Amino acid sequence: MSEQKKKGGLLGWYFNFNLLYRILIGLVLGIILGLVLREKILWIAPFGDIFVRLLKMIMMPIILSTLIVGASSVSPASLGKVGIRVIIFYLATSAFAVVIGLLMGTIFQPSADLSSIEQLAANAAARTAENVKVSTIILNIVPTSIASAIVSENVLAVIFFALVFGLGISYAKGSDDPRLKHAGEVVFSFWEGVAEVITMVIKWIMEYAPIGVLALVSVVFATNGPKVIGSLGVVTAACFTGYAIHVVFVYFALVKFYGRLPLGRYLKDAKDPFITAFVTRSSNGTLPVTMKSAANLGVSKEVYSFSLPLGATINMDGTAIYQGVCATFIALSVGRGMFSLQEMGVIVLTATLASIGTAGVPGAGAIMLLMVLDAVGLPVTAGSLVAGAYAMILGIDAILDMGRTALNVSGDLACTACVSKKMGLMDMSKWEKKSA
Ligand code: ASP
Repeated sequence: MSEQKKKGGLLGWYFNFNLLYRILIGLVLGIILGLVLREKILWIAPFGDIFVRLLKMIMMPIILSTLIVGASSVSPASLGKVGIRVIIFYLATSAFAVVIGLLMGTIFQPSADLSSIEQLAANAAARTAENVKVSTIILNIVPTSIASAIVSENVLAVIFFALVFGLGISYAKGSDDPRLKHAGEVVFSFWEGVAEVITMVIKWIMEYAPIGVLALVSVVFATNGPKVIGSLGVVTAACFTGYAIHVVFVYFALVKFYGRLPLGRYLKDAKDPFITAFVTRSSNGTLPVTMKSAANLGVSKEVYSFSLPLGATINMDGTAIYQGVCATFIALSVGRGMFSLQEMGVIVLTATLASIGTAGVPGAGAIMLLMVLDAVGLPVTAGSLVAGAYAMILGIDAILDMGRTALNVSGDLACTACVSKKMGLMDMSKWEKKSA
């Protein structure tokens, strides 16, 4: 923070040091402390929870204000064009991600010996009640009450309301009736002010990120530690290989060949949301950082204020890959064998929908996995082998979630940058200056 620049001492050192390096130091220290001290470091958990709470606290205000300002800043016609492109990108990359997940499942063939998992099966049984239906996901997009949508953190419903409300402001502002035009302008200024103030608050919250990251990561490693071996090691390897393939062959390829943007310069700003998502395991929580990166890359606010909050909710490529791999793991572990092509088709469809319905919060993808398993006749029922295999996945979910969230967020930024560039809505001077 600039006003802290002149200060000496520990605080001065803290604020003067580059934020990204501070976050990375927090990450490395967190891993070391977690692995070395194990349960002795668990007291640190509340420091991580504070960070997640701060991010969640700002989540709804940022989604509401940025989407309302975004939707009311553009003419309905151009919002339509941007919106359709963004949504097509999001859906296509998610469907592709499930295919990669299934491919990884086929190549790695992850499976476990389920003879000693009765206890795990009992633990997993509790999760079955949280099962979710596709029709419910779609219906829930339209809120019956905006207040309850906000309170229950139904992000899709809030997005829906914000878009409708923003479009209303946009129409009012452009009205020939002076009274309506004035009303539109006043409401627009109010929300623009809210968005500005929230951006400022986000900067303050990010100063706490290094401490929050250290705490979050040390707890994950303290609780999961050397358990990540054997069959679960194979699941992890399959997921992370899938994530890496998707980054290179989808995102890098899109940015370089479709967006025709220099990759090195892109990565300079794209790495910040990647790292933040990796450690917070929340696309929604990372939203402020993703937005800052989009702005640094010269993406028009018109595009990113709409596409990033939407992407944080509906575009979950990492989650889609994870679902493909884990569905295969469970099918193989219960002795059901590899999926047929037709079943793979069902998985691609349901996992794409599941990733749309997955909230951008830690662990949400594991709940949506239940929906995919149901669709291929592998329901998680109390005491069943499927429940046991599912519980094993839950044991390492935090680690898988780190990678999939990083991917989820990277996909939002890559699609946003490409659509923005293609539609001539990108400030290219940002690219010239930094690459010089
Ligand atoms: N944690 C993920 C995210 O926020 C969602 C998931 O659990 O798959 O993007």
